[in-house]
Amino acid sequence: MTSVTAFVEGWDFVQTLGEGAYGEVKLAVNNETQEAVAVKIINLERMPQAEENVRKEVCVHKMLNHESIIKFYGFRKDDSIQYIFLEYASGGELFDRIEPDVGMPEVDASRYFKQLISGVEYLHSRGVTHRDLKPENLLLDDFDNLKISDFGLSTVFRYQGRERLLEKCCGTVPYVAPEVISRKPYHAEPADIWSCGIILVALLAGELPWDEPTYGCQEYCNWKDCKITLSPWNKIDTLALSLLRKVLVENASKRRTIEQIKKHQWYNKNFNKNKGRYPSSSPTDSPCGTGPFKRMCSGASMSPTSLEPDSDMSRICSSQPELPPVPLKSQSENLTSGGEDLGPVISFSQPLHPDHMLLSSQFQGTPGSSQTPMQKLVRRMTRFFVKTDKNDTLTEMDRICESLGYAYRRSSPGVTTVTLKDKRGMPLVFKACLMEMGENLLLDFRLSKGDGLEFKRQFMKVKNQMKKISSKVPPLFPLVPSQQPL
Ligand code: ATP
Repeated sequence: MTSVTAFVEGWDFVQTLGEGAYGEVKLAVNNETQEAVAVKIINLERMPQAEENVRKEVCVHKMLNHESIIKFYGFRKDDSIQYIFLEYASGGELFDRIEPDVGMPEVDASRYFKQLISGVEYLHSRGVTHRDLKPENLLLDDFDNLKISDFGLSTVFRYQGRERLLEKCCGTVPYVAPEVISRKPYHAEPADIWSCGIILVALLAGELPWDEPTYGCQEYCNWKDCKITLSPWNKIDTLALSLLRKVLVENASKRRTIEQIKKHQWYNKNFNKNKGRYPSSSPTDSPCGTGPFKRMCSGASMSPTSLEPDSDMSRICSSQPELPPVPLKSQSENLTSGGEDLGPVISFSQPLHPDHMLLSSQFQGTPGSSQTPMQKLVRRMTRFFVKTDKNDTLTEMDRICESLGYAYRRSSPGVTTVTLKDKRGMPLVFKACLMEMGENLLLDFRLSKGDGLEFKRQFMKVKNQMKKISSKVPPLFPLVPSQQPL
């Protein structure tokens, strides 16, 4: 539920945006200016092993400043709680825009792919590799612009012109390049580029091509043998496929570079803009999404089923060499007033002075955002209004969980947490939160852990079963005034 909690003077936590392995990400809104930031909260008492990782994440993220990368505003520590302040991505996650087993129109995929490549090119130019590129880590802003996020596994591979090879096995299995799991030193850049190729498959086909890029995986062998009449390749246009054939090349030294990708015909093709599903900032009500599994690291077995998502090994590359002392940008250099030039359609703006929040330790007791409940929500397609009252809706939710064989619990009032294993045997956890929107009740589903596409598939099943009680009114998205129903 959107419980409003005071945070620092003038700023309120208005809702939980997401959960990660180390803690929660909350939306904080300034109650006077309506400036909004995402705050990643890590409780070191509960997660002592996260400290080193957070230090690295902050160290890398603070040196980055690019339109396709979530801006880093600052970092603050209050005893054992660490806060990372980030640009708020109100458009949700990219996987939410992918229809399972379908994908999205090429025009949209092309736009997102170009933004991804531009962000990755910038990262590499700064000597940084992300190492966990996947749709779950690609967020969207008010205008559906893609923003690379989550630098928890990133590292510096080039410093003062000298590149070091990486050895650690990091990432999310279906997205990692073959050399990353080969246990031999590998170059950082081609490995990120491979992940971009897998993301492009997910965008165009709504499914991942294989569980892992090893000869033990039939789908991967089929690709190597050019059996492209099979799914997902048969859903992809020949021009896009010709790019993928050059990106998903096993030999990293023969894989296309970003410079070469940018010269490819598909990359430069002008798609008919009107055919896109998301021409600007108002996605239509659509199902869908793709995604990964969980992170993994050197030492862990690479088989998805053998990776324990909660284990340290599944997330941390703690034995990476220390980051070199990177030249840090000042807070103000890092800041751009992202909200200023977005025009009148936004309700929140990016903070002009995030340091106020970093310095103040004064907590206040009265929440004060004047936003409507709808405006506080991230745009997401995994939600619908219901016609039933609170009790009946929760009873119906329980009934459906039982009929679908889900393990579930009421984790807090109105919130149902569902836990299951996806088709690859990986844990999948999602939450269904019942929210009051004025007179209406909204059932909002959010992925907590696991593969985004699998989550979207499960959401579609639940939605289908809830047909009788779900309202025909689509859950309109916040941030576009003409669409605000409440
Ligand atoms: P992971 O287990 O994936 O490593 P994490 O602890 O590193 O998780 P993130 O992946 O960065 O946390 O964030 C968790 C979720 O919170 C995201 O999937 C997204 O839904 C939401 N989120 C994170 N950052 C933002 C942001 N800047 N704006 C809006 N939502 C965000």
